Amino acid sequence: MKTIIGLIYGGKSAEHEVSLSTAYEVMQAIDYAKFDVLPIYITIQGEWCQGEKRTTPFEHKESLRFDSKGKADSIQQIIANGLAFDLAFPVLHGTNGEDGTVQGLFEVLNIPYVGNGVLASSAGMDKVSMKQLFEIAGLAQVPYVHFVRPDWEQNRAEVIEKAEKELPYPMFVKPANLGSSVGISKADDRAQLEEAIELALRFDRKIVIEEGVTAREIEMGVLGNDYPEFSVPGEIKPIAAFYDYEAKYQDDSTELVIPAEVSEEVKSKMTEMARGAYRVLDCAGLVRADFFVTANDEVYINEVNTMPGFTKTSMFPLLWQNTGMTYPEIIERLIELAMERHTAKQ
Ligand code: ADP
Ligand code: MG
Ligand code: MG
Repeated sequence: MKTIIGLIYGGKSAEHEVSLSTAYEVMQAIDYAKFDVLPIYITIQGEWCQGEKRTTPFEHKESLRFDSKGKADSIQQIIANGLAFDLAFPVLHGTNGEDGTVQGLFEVLNIPYVGNGVLASSAGMDKVSMKQLFEIAGLAQVPYVHFVRPDWEQNRAEVIEKAEKELPYPMFVKPANLGSSVGISKADDRAQLEEAIELALRFDRKIVIEEGVTAREIEMGVLGNDYPEFSVPGEIKPIAAFYDYEAKYQDDSTELVIPAEVSEEVKSKMTEMARGAYRVLDCAGLVRADFFVTANDEVYINEVNTMPGFTKTSMFPLLWQNTGMTYPEIIERLIELAMERHTAKQ
């Protein structure tokens, strides 16, 4: 009997479209001699729609955007009907998908799932918790401060004062719980800082402010459970002011240089830091670890992404291709790792 993969994509998230592209590519790459695919589309409103089991991929990306014609159009119904898949492959980015909530659902249902568990997913989604854990692991990162909405509501001057006391301009202001650069802006002075905070607060109640660095952005792929493996590093060369949402997904203004031109020393520093991050967050399956590398080769960890962009032109698969693993091989490895982790828990 073939294993049925529940491919879960879309989602009530700013990264809905990205998830759809990823799901389309993953479907093309799955080995249908070994697996069938049950597509489960989460609409932008958050409805779960279960499709028909597939033994071949969809021909068009748009076909992934279906409604279930009333058959199973909520998570409650999908569960009540008896789960029609053996392993979950969530390709969801951001809130409700990459943040541990969906992972918790699979834990409760006791089914194997691809990627990180609850802790790594939720800690990786919250930039403040992630930084605090990195600090415990002794990983170098840029100086930062953080606050929550009531701090701002009660005493704006104090928030500004704390940021200015700890950090020089320019600063980067970020909502703690998003990805894809949504709600992030750079502030060169106090007026911009206030504006950036107001913007970030539209997306989250928890905000992080960082010292802005002038540095190259270099990333590394990690694959594995207890014994992770590391890809070659790759550099993002944005033409925009910073690597914002448009640059990431909507235009060709970034260039990926793989492998990145770095010294062996920088490469091994990055590998050790990626290993430390993987361990302190207790990651499984995969992450993409993102670094800032300054002109004098100082390396700071920026973040890990527990469900990195995964289309064929995304950094993560390209890093592995350069390390000797094809796109279908990565997919197969992720499924193997999900099974392995599930078995180890039993
Ligand atoms: P996301 O999780 O949304 O990708 P990041 O923290 O990676 O958020 O920030 C998005 C982008 O903003 C980075 O890729 C980088 O271009 C820029 N950036 C973020 N923080 C800093 C910083 N402290 N200094 C310089 N650039 C930064
Ligand atoms: Mg991120
Ligand atoms: Mg990032």
